[in-house]
Amino acid sequence: MFESLQDKGHATGVHLRGARKSFGALEVIKGVDMDIGRGEFAVFVGPSGCGKSTLLRMIAGLEDTSDGSIAIGERDVTHEDPADRGVAMVFQSYALYPHLSVYENMAFSLRLAKRPKAEVDAKVREAAGILQLADHLEKKPAQLSGGQRQRVAIGRAIVRAPEVFLFDEPLSNLDAELRVQMRLELARLHKALGATMIYVTHDQVEAMTLADRIFVLQGGLVQQQGAPLDLYDDPSNRFVAGFIGSPS
Ligand code: ADP
Ligand code: MG
Repeated sequence: MFESLQDKGHATGVHLRGARKSFGALEVIKGVDMDIGRGEFAVFVGPSGCGKSTLLRMIAGLEDTSDGSIAIGERDVTHEDPADRGVAMVFQSYALYPHLSVYENMAFSLRLAKRPKAEVDAKVREAAGILQLADHLEKKPAQLSGGQRQRVAIGRAIVRAPEVFLFDEPLSNLDAELRVQMRLELARLHKALGATMIYVTHDQVEAMTLADRIFVLQGGLVQQQGAPLDLYDDPSNRFVAGFIGSPS
């Protein structure tokens, strides 16, 4: 399965050293050191406004880094273009092209990269199979349900076979039942592709079930990091305890 998409050999880690980001006088990321391993599922949690999206966007290259460095695998990508970083980002808002079909939405980046037609077709059809979109390839986004749109957004990332997937609260627009289903699919996808994934969420159950490791951000810094059960057993402060749902 996933012949054209799976490439465990090229999953890479993500390494931040003293990473900082200011918007004008406001420093929102205040010196983050972080090592995410090859193939690891890392989850960022933390209160609204603590810098989760900003940190993810810095890794994607959608925000420049004011100070410090970001490496993907061995490569220092701090000042590299987003398109060259080997990452693909999935947004909460889906960000699909409304005038393009599902097929063309998923094919878009491969066409831009001038990949051969047969390769584009194989990758799009395979991703569509994984995401249960095979019967919807000719539809426009407006003809799809919320869950199907989010699948297309994920499919658009998958076809690029990125070294690192970045997800910013991808399921928060979906209803509870769909969230459960998509959460299981994401876990399956991670296992199948073996890719490194960094995932921002507000949802405690998503964090606890998807994460190999949870990073708790607060005020632009990593407050605590650890495996879900370790955070549960030993939360370093009330926010962590409250979020994880442990008694202390
Ligand atoms: P989170 O995703 O954890 O809710 P964000 O990373 O979106 O937090 O935002 C962190 C802080 O940075 C917030 O105070 C937010 O207002 C600020 N911020 C984010 N993007 C910008 C921007 N483009 N310009 C100015 N301030 C920003
Ligand atoms: Mg955010």
